[in-house]
Amino acid sequence: MASEEDVVTMDKVVALCKRRGFIFASSEIYGGLGSTYDYGHYGVLLKTNVKNEWWRAMLQERDDIVALDSAILQHPRVWKASGHLEGFTDPMVDCRTCKARFRADHLAERAPGLVCPQKPSKLPGEGPDCDLTEAREFNLMFETTVGPVKDSGSIAYLRPETAQGIFINFKNVLQFSRKKPPFGIAQVGKSFRNEITPGNITFRTREFEQMEMEFFVPPAEAQQWYESWKQERFDWYTRLGIRPDSLRLREHDADELSHYSSATADVEYLFPMAWSELEGIANRGQFDLTAHATESGEKLEYFDQGSGERYIPAVIEPAAGADRATLAFLVDAYDEETLENGEVRTVLKLHPRLAPVKVAVMPLVKKDGQPEIAKSIVASLRGVMQTEYDEGGSIGKRYRRQDEIGTPWCVTVDHETLADGTVTLRDRDTLTQERVEINDLPALLAGRLAMPWTSPKLG
Ligand code: ATP
Repeated sequence: MASEEDVVTMDKVVALCKRRGFIFASSEIYGGLGSTYDYGHYGVLLKTNVKNEWWRAMLQERDDIVALDSAILQHPRVWKASGHLEGFTDPMVDCRTCKARFRADHLAERAPGLVCPQKPSKLPGEGPDCDLTEAREFNLMFETTVGPVKDSGSIAYLRPETAQGIFINFKNVLQFSRKKPPFGIAQVGKSFRNEITPGNITFRTREFEQMEMEFFVPPAEAQQWYESWKQERFDWYTRLGIRPDSLRLREHDADELSHYSSATADVEYLFPMAWSELEGIANRGQFDLTAHATESGEKLEYFDQGSGERYIPAVIEPAAGADRATLAFLVDAYDEETLENGEVRTVLKLHPRLAPVKVAVMPLVKKDGQPEIAKSIVASLRGVMQTEYDEGGSIGKRYRRQDEIGTPWCVTVDHETLADGTVTLRDRDTLTQERVEINDLPALLAGRLAMPWTSPKLG
């Protein structure tokens, strides 16, 4: 079995997503709505698993972080204090010839489809004939109105990040969680940005999900926690199977830093298009709590009863995107292999815990009582893990289908099963088949799912 080199292209991953119902363009029957996507069954399962693994790392595997789910609509003064009303802008330029719109800071790396049609050999900004406007600052926040009366008093914004919902709840959480710095508040939820140039399927969209955690620490410890969270977050991706060679930590230069940050590093993944950000880890210092304390008049500080010390904690923030991470896991898992019989199989080598379906159960033939046995196996596995029953088409076709959605194990009921109560257990990556007792399946598979995983991609 041989793996072809460099088989992954964005087009292939997008085609598989569509073919197998992971991700579709949204509003398709109305011609689509630019850069919005819907997740189908397997996409929902995969993205849910990605978020669950993030929660597991934040909540289950440690005891210094608590969870929060704040509202998408928040008081408009939140965005004044955070600096978003004033400064959450991108520089935008328009091409007067083709009417396309670009981010001025992305002109060099623009998607190939955005070539000015008037001058096919030239990219906007590159030739003397291109007719670009001056860059204008464009606020990325979506505005809406709250309540039945549409006046300036009722303006609200769809949150462009989940982080601010955490800062404005700092006091509540401190009071009810009985935590003291260093401790964190974690949140997963939708954010909205009116991006000028979205693209590459779900990599950059106007509506997306973030997984953000704000870690509050004594200011003197900020640097050490910054270092530790960079490593922690890098390791999360590799533990879940991303090839370490395709992942890097890139420290921002001073001129790249946001207004609130004294240091930021991005976890970047080598997508087919380029190295691109999956997550940012920032040392936000005391900026946010100070800004909200000033704007709201509330004290947002920690009082240490032991030492009598009172201080505003510094904040270390790992901010990840659930859709981007999901896309990276898909791209990294995608493989095309030539089998011994010359057939090419497309397979998603997803970490079993990320795989949408853990086990597919199939009767070899649709008779002789095999479907009934297979269905009873499904019933016994259902409460343990995501299980699918599949009886349509040849066994080879069914295996191919499960390979394409990344199912790590297939159980096949055959003639022998009727005689001795054993089934075939096929492994997605090694293609080995072993005979196991039906009664052993739930514990055996649950055990394999819980085990640390060695990625076959590294072999
Ligand atoms: P970019 O530079 O790519 O616009 P950013 O630095 O503005 O991203 P952050 O504000 O740090 O992004 O948001 C944290 C994470 O949220 C990003 O690393 C990314 O995974 C995700 N994210 C941000 N914007 C989008 C978007 N438009 N679509 C999908 N995911 C996004």
